Amino acid sequence: MRAVDDTPPEDSNDLVDVDLYDDGPFPEFRFRQAPQGLATRRQLRAMNLSPGGHEPVAQLTWRSGRRMAWLYRIDLAKPKRTPTLAQEQALDRAMAARQTCSECGRRYFHCLRLKTVGSCEECFDGTPAHPDSYITPTA
Ligand SMILES: [Zn+2]
Repeated sequence: MRAVDDTPPEDSNDLVDVDLYDDGPFPEFRFRQAPQGLATRRQLRAMNLSPGGHEPVAQLTWRSGRRMAWLYRIDLAKPKRTPTLAQEQALDRAMAARQTCSECGRRYFHCLRLKTVGSCEECFDGTPAHPDSYITPTA
């Protein structure tokens, strides 16, 4: 018959103590021995991916362990955020402010002399603007 002391109390089963290292030591691979499906942060970046918040699953060591890098699972990686579009939009807004005539609403392909003239040439003194030099506002 088992001693009572060997059995944990019933309520202790409710708390699951997650031990991330339960499966053994943190996997460590030598350079070029890493299994398929794992990549360093640098390698992910080369694939236009980023860890996407997931923890490294192994570590890569080389130069007798003096250098190491974390290894991430490629299947958990997420596409790298490319702020290009947002940057372009911000740049476009800034350019639009400098290229749009407040009088007629046309957006020119060149910057207007808003500080001195305040509008496009056509609105300022009637100099006709070339139709190819602006975008007619979509009303
Ligand atoms: Zn104008």
